[in-house]
Amino acid sequence: MPIQKKIVNEEKREKPEGLTTEPGYCFYCGQVAIATTPDGWPEAKLNEHATLKCSCPEAKNFQDIGKQKERAKDNIIKLFGSEAKNPVTEITLDLMKNSIDEIADGNIGKISMDINDEIKAVLSKTAKGKIKVTRKENYTATLIG
Ligand SMILES: [Zn+2]
Repeated sequence: MPIQKKIVNEEKREKPEGLTTEPGYCFYCGQVAIATTPDGWPEAKLNEHATLKCSCPEAKNFQDIGKQKERAKDNIIKLFGSEAKNPVTEITLDLMKNSIDEIADGNIGKISMDINDEIKAVLSKTAKGKIKVTRKENYTATLIG
């Protein structure tokens, strides 16, 4: 739809104080949502924004998986972050958080990481589809969410 895009660009230029409003489209049903941003977003982010606002069943499922990822990443921080006993490095934390995305999206079933001789991390999905973050040490702690 090149004509519509041109109109949007016209509106963008007329906005004061550098704010831009741009449409995004739900990944699944194409529902439009307008995003107002200070600097303009790339198309992928605009479409993600629209999908997060949409109420179609596929978008709801996408939103649920997004919340599940956030909870699992919070659980990783609780068990391995700076507040935890013997925290891991920031790079290891990022590696674990990226692993969560792959597990939540169904691309990887389970990841085990030997942090050192004493600490082990296991990231997996339960039979009910929840993401399980386990820290094994002299004791075992598990958070499910
Ligand atoms: Zn939708």
